[in-house]
Amino acid sequence: MSYLVFARKWRPQSFEEVLSQDHVTITLKNAIDTDRIGHAYLLTGPRGVGKTTTARIFAKALNCEKGPTSKPCQKCDSCRNITSGNHLDVREIDGASNRGIDQIRDLRERARYATASGKYKIYIIDEVHMLTNEAFNALLKILEEPPESVVFIFATTQPRKVPDTILSRCQRFDFRRIPVSDMSKYLKKEAASEGISLDGAALSLICRASGGSMRDALSLMDQLVSYSGNDINGTEVAKLLGMVESDLLYEITSGILAGNTSRAIDHVSNALAEGYSVDELLDALVVFLRNLLLVATGAEDSLSEVPESESRLLLKLSENLPDIAVLNILRILSSATIEVKRSNLPRITLETAVMTASKLSRVFSIDELPPVAEKAVERHRQTGNETSPEEEKESMEADCSLEEKEQSPVKASENNGIIEDTAESVEDAEEDSADDKDDEEKEKETSRKILGLFDAV
Ligand SMILES: [Zn+2]
Repeated sequence: MSYLVFARKWRPQSFEEVLSQDHVTITLKNAIDTDRIGHAYLLTGPRGVGKTTTARIFAKALNCEKGPTSKPCQKCDSCRNITSGNHLDVREIDGASNRGIDQIRDLRERARYATASGKYKIYIIDEVHMLTNEAFNALLKILEEPPESVVFIFATTQPRKVPDTILSRCQRFDFRRIPVSDMSKYLKKEAASEGISLDGAALSLICRASGGSMRDALSLMDQLVSYSGNDINGTEVAKLLGMVESDLLYEITSGILAGNTSRAIDHVSNALAEGYSVDELLDALVVFLRNLLLVATGAEDSLSEVPESESRLLLKLSENLPDIAVLNILRILSSATIEVKRSNLPRITLETAVMTASKLSRVFSIDELPPVAEKAVERHRQTGNETSPEEEKESMEADCSLEEKEQSPVKASENNGIIEDTAESVEDAEEDSADDKDDEEKEKETSRKILGLFDAV
């Protein structure tokens, strides 16, 4: 038997086998069962999510010798011919290469003839948005008065390019991207039935690379089996796809979060030594942090696109993690993605960003700052004991006006950037116990900065 690529070998043959598009398949099945079959259907959605597959199954359901039935028998001549693409009454047309008026005129003529053997004459036009305006006009004529037994099924990734006059004559079905959880379960099961083993990291990378397109995922599987045989692991997938493994991203991120700059930088060096480019690593890191932010803010439902193995790592990292901390790190690294593209020394830009981000993780110990601030204020009171009541009043008034000032958002964001300075100034202020005016000013400045910092956080 000749070699069949997975996308063909595993192509769903019945409505029940179509993955993650129940909202479409159930409606189509009901339409067949209640004998409410329309003349034109428009299937829209991203590539590789089952549009043409569903169109073929629909054709089979209509023309099965036991049909129309929502459960085509798969055994009769009609079912088998449709599966192999040889049914005389089911024509598949690629809109991209048959986009002119002549082809559509020809189609219009043929559609008027009686069916060869099936009950319905079915035209599946893929990428229908590629047709020219003239071709659409010719198509419109036939849609306005369709012959009794003709059914059109249009598929497109860009429904906005289809004229309204056509759209209004079609029943429209929107296909969705295949959620990572469904895709990964499906791939694992199908691969196991072929004796192919996939570890969690490999599955996660394939799903991430496919962007929700099953066709892309299956093409990757073909490539991977040729590359590494029947035992596919994450390291090999990462190498082949130039994708950074979640474990590596986890290590770098946890180094940054722990304020452990050397650990974070070591893992960056390891990743670069393994052959990832600076761009690839940084992009992957930004996506990973974005997902971490979703977990940290509690929007875990939005993580349906993240493979299970990765969400486990994200949950582990997000324990007791303030979302503002992730947001700050994400800001630093995403601005680095732009700098890296301009820089002659992208590696240094990346390393600097990672260092800055890991230094910023000190912001987590913000809880420890209030006592320091109180101490500074307390000491200010003690050293200022000899001040006259008038002076004290004056300084209190000054404090009040400062508070008002610092509540403005602009001030708050400015303070974000001077966390380091603040920490140092606190230490400086503690070291010098001299009670001259300069020092008092310094301490006042410090408490102002710290107060502003709380507003920011
Ligand atoms: Zn059949």
